[in-house]
Amino acid sequence: MELTYDTFYIDGGWVRPSSDRVIIPIDASTERPLGRVPEGVEADVDAAAGAARRAFDTPGGWAEWEPVRRAEVMERLAGAIDRRADEFVTRVSSQNGMPAAVARQLETGYPSAVLRYYARLARETAFTDVRPGLFGGSVEVRRAPIGVVAAIVPWNFPQALAMFKIAPALAAGCTLVVKPSPETVLDAYLLAEAVAEAGVPAGVINIVPAGREAGASLVAHPSVDKVAFTGSTPAGRAIAEVCGRLLRPVTLELGGKSAAIVLDDAELDLARIGQGLFGSTLLNNGQTCFLGTRVLAPRGRYTEVVDAFTALAGSLTIGPALDPETRVGPLATARQRERVESYIAAGRAAGARLTTGGGRPKGLDRGWFVEPTVFADVDNSSVIAREEIFGPVLTVIPYDDVDDAVRIANDSDFGLGGTVWTEDPERGAAVARRIQTGTIGVNRYIPDPVAPFGGIKASGLGRELGPEGLTAYQQTRTLYR
Ligand code: NAD
Repeated sequence: MELTYDTFYIDGGWVRPSSDRVIIPIDASTERPLGRVPEGVEADVDAAAGAARRAFDTPGGWAEWEPVRRAEVMERLAGAIDRRADEFVTRVSSQNGMPAAVARQLETGYPSAVLRYYARLARETAFTDVRPGLFGGSVEVRRAPIGVVAAIVPWNFPQALAMFKIAPALAAGCTLVVKPSPETVLDAYLLAEAVAEAGVPAGVINIVPAGREAGASLVAHPSVDKVAFTGSTPAGRAIAEVCGRLLRPVTLELGGKSAAIVLDDAELDLARIGQGLFGSTLLNNGQTCFLGTRVLAPRGRYTEVVDAFTALAGSLTIGPALDPETRVGPLATARQRERVESYIAAGRAAGARLTTGGGRPKGLDRGWFVEPTVFADVDNSSVIAREEIFGPVLTVIPYDDVDDAVRIANDSDFGLGGTVWTEDPERGAAVARRIQTGTIGVNRYIPDPVAPFGGIKASGLGRELGPEGLTAYQQTRTLYR
């Protein structure tokens, strides 16, 4: 695969870049270049933001369309994405190492489902309501679109996380500048082609792949009304500071270090729950923000839990991302592997007991592979239990009783995801409700598009998905009559 692009998708057309800078995406499984695209700089961001501004401000334009008319465009876009499903899988998996089977579910089917869900909300939600006034007369409350959105997305789920922003923004009547991460740019061009094919009006969605500097210029751009960001906590803090100064609304989906709490009655038969455990602790080579990477195990069954996770991690087929048999692919970049390996070294140095993995898999000399790794005898105060590793590395931490498990789970700088494993779903739900986190599951975890997703503490601000995710792209306008 060699894919070369020399334009950006701005204002409904293919526009030449303003500089000769390029991004060369690399195949995470082979370390070979996959193609070349232009790298956006401040002037390109400016062109895209200007186009989004004009599209938003045009009288009778997108922002003022009846929501059902916007829904029709969104449904056409979902169809255009579906028609490119195979190509999305190939491009995403090659670039970021996501196993193709995961990409098929979460990077094509899931984004178009999110888009159709918000199209339905656009059809069914009341955008205006009229209330009798307390002192006579009536009051009209209109949910107006917030304006031009800067959507800044990371490389780990580039299409799903872009759609968490694009779909509600379109439903609300906003226009967008989407800035993909430099690691995942080729899928962004497929999305641009789908946008063009679906007849999304010019300027409503503009896409400029670029790095941090151009991203920062987008955050602060005078034409932008709202920033929606997914990425690391340090970048989120930097963006929030700028938005604070500008009084610009911002949504932040940041890192996590969630707990997977195994209760004393939990089933540990991997034939029954292995898939669920895998999906909630190791999905996408551990490069998933909501994973329960701190496994909390009751002391009475500690050895059993360590053995179960050791067996699970040791049983996973490691291989190139595009191989349909692969359960664990390479990490997205050389830098990401260095980071993960430095945490594994820190775990060893702190005296944690390595029960499986810890190195690079044999026979895979190219590609940024790391073995699925489990550490036992970990204290919740150690670096590998406190910081987000963003790789296939689990820590198993013992607890005394349920109160102790809840205390350890809540003793974290983050609060994004989590799971509780038990044979008694009601007991599991009662424990889950005590965890300080934005989302949590009992015996399963998958962000459901109908419900708000997001974090507390250092995991972020605001929510995406669900009807709540739509209100983040609206502002109420009140008219007393
Ligand atoms: P990153 O924060 O370095 O980059 C994310 C995106 O932001 C990229 O597009 C990058 O170019 C851009 N960016 C970085 N600094 C910026 C700035 N100051 N101004 C504007 N744009 C800027 O993160 P990453 O390494 O690409 O992604 C991995 C991180 O993202 C992990 O920590 C992970 O937990 C987090 N993440 C969180 C969620 C979530 O929903 N909570 C989802 C996925 C990833």
